[in-house]
Amino acid sequence: MIKQTIADKVAQLIRPELRAMQAYTVQSAEGLIKLDAMESPYVLPAELTDAWLTTLQSVELNRYPDPAASDLVTQLRKTMRIPVALEIIPGNGSDELIQLLCAAVIDTPQSTAGKPVVLAPEPGFVMYRILAAATGLKYVGVPLQSSNFELDETAMLAAIEEYQPALIFLAYPNNPTGNLFDADVIDKIIRQAPGLVIIDEAYQPFAETSFLDQIEQYDNALLMRTVSKLGLAGIRFGYLVGKPEWITELNKLRLPYNINSLTQATAGFALEHFEVFEQQAALIREERQRLFDALSAIDGIQAFPSRANFILFKVTSGDADRIFAGLKQHGVLIKNASATVPDCLRVTVGNAEENAKFLQALLESL
Ligand SMILES: *Cc1c(COP(=O)(O)O)cnc(C)c1O
Repeated sequence: MIKQTIADKVAQLIRPELRAMQAYTVQSAEGLIKLDAMESPYVLPAELTDAWLTTLQSVELNRYPDPAASDLVTQLRKTMRIPVALEIIPGNGSDELIQLLCAAVIDTPQSTAGKPVVLAPEPGFVMYRILAAATGLKYVGVPLQSSNFELDETAMLAAIEEYQPALIFLAYPNNPTGNLFDADVIDKIIRQAPGLVIIDEAYQPFAETSFLDQIEQYDNALLMRTVSKLGLAGIRFGYLVGKPEWITELNKLRLPYNINSLTQATAGFALEHFEVFEQQAALIREERQRLFDALSAIDGIQAFPSRANFILFKVTSGDADRIFAGLKQHGVLIKNASATVPDCLRVTVGNAEENAKFLQALLESL
């Protein structure tokens, strides 16, 4: 008998779509001003640090966390004014909730794709595609209008008709373009969709608008949020809100202890002091305006208006890679978005000092 190599065994056992994928990697930011990942430039204010540490001291690390994160969920409902008719699933970041949704669905009745379809506008958040592929689903991207990054209503409705997606993800505002899609088009999409539509409000603190109060009027809409962009990316906490019928089923797939004790305590503490994070978000919105004005004043650069904590900007055709590298050489890391949005780069809004350094580095890199 021929002895099998490990590679043979791997090929036999591991799903082909998984073997075809690359593991998710993050560019190193060592020694650089980090404006690549939409993190907040602000930490917990010094006057809150002691109270936070006291909270952490009472966490019993030898015990399993509360499996339902009940206190945190109660606090969340209060702080975020989640309508009483809706329920909440806590997630280890919204990424985990996207994965959970992908793992929960089967093909819609009219679909001919052979496996459940995940549909999202493009350019969009990469995890929809990555997690759809990783869970064995089919991913369909529908191009946004190239002039203004609005949803292409005709193309979206046609794709829904053709692919009968089990899940549609709409980031509101969208990443990496920063705009809020037309709410009427979103409404039409939800009404036409044979499956679930997830409104991803990762950037809600900077958007000053929300679908939260509309979710109830649909049978097939869920809302997803995260604290990551709000200054708490390190604790991994996101949540999904929807009608109990959906949440009950999805919750069965959630791992019992997915929100660790330190995160439960820290997120709860942060929500009790939510006004601090709201003030920080307001500062970022002001900085966003200043950064937008400064970018717009530069010859050869077109900045796109943003309702998030980042700005997408277009440079002279063919120059994106060179400018990205130049910025890095000057000590500033942003995101080169040109592979998905031609000639575009995306910069996270930092604090005043970081933004000034970025602008200086950009001028020297043009
Ligand atoms: C950053 C981002 C998320 C990821 O949030 P986590 O809670 O950190 O996993 C989700 N959706 C969009 C659109 C994002 O840009």
